Amino acid sequence: MGELSLEYAWADPDECVACGACLRECPRHCIRIVDGKYARINETFCFGCGKCARICPAECVKMRWREE
Ligand code: SF4
Ligand code: SF4
Repeated sequence: MGELSLEYAWADPDECVACGACLRECPRHCIRIVDGKYARINETFCFGCGKCARICPAECVKMRWREE
C-alpha cells in the first residue's frame, strides 16, 4: 500500500455546477468532469491539499478522513 494522505477531497455531485475550476487548481490532476455534469475526484491520487475545496464557487467540495 502506498502512502495515502489522512484526508482526501470529495465533491458533492448534487451541488457541483461543473465549472472546472477545481480541475485547473489540482496539482495532482486527479479531478475530472463526468458527462459534463459534475466533478469526480480520484481519491487514491488526492493528497488532501484542499485547493479544490478552497476555490470551488459552489462550496461543494468537502474534505474527508480516510478510513483506518
Ligand atoms: S485536495 Fe488537492 S490533490 Fe486532492 S483533489 Fe483537491 S486539489 Fe487535488
Ligand atoms: S470547482 Fe466546484 S462546482 Fe466547479 S467543477 Fe469543481 S467541484 Fe464542481
